[in-house]
Amino acid sequence: MDCIFCQIIAGRIPSDIIFQDESVVCFRDIHPLAPTHILVVPKKHIDSLVAMTEADLPLIGALVKAANLMAKKEKIAERGYRLVINCGKEGTQAVTHLHMHLLGGRQLSASLG
Ligand code: 5GP
Ligand code: ZN
Repeated sequence: MDCIFCQIIAGRIPSDIIFQDESVVCFRDIHPLAPTHILVVPKKHIDSLVAMTEADLPLIGALVKAANLMAKKEKIAERGYRLVINCGKEGTQAVTHLHMHLLGGRQLSASLG
């Protein structure tokens, strides 16, 4: 198993896990880009958005639900925040295990690209 996020989920690599339920794990990004930068990760290994099957689609709801809960816990829900999923090379995906970034706690740039 050479997937870094699978190893974090299995507890083989230490991480700052702040929430988990039956399908999702949330931990802080090791190189935060904002005061709140949390990775919201399905426990199931899926390479990327493009690898998702029809049966995997409910997981997107589970990721959004967990991200919104984390935003409330971080007290940024009212101020605003951003959810990002990078996909593939041109989408700048570095870790090949589907994940959503929760970014907030400062005024984010309007530029997305
Ligand atoms: P991507 O570019 O694939 O969407 O984002 C991958 C993210 O994972 C990056 O923001 C990077 O800082 C984070 N990351 C990579 N390795 C680790 C790690 O071992 N632990 C944690 N907590 N975050 C990691
Ligand atoms: Zn994985």
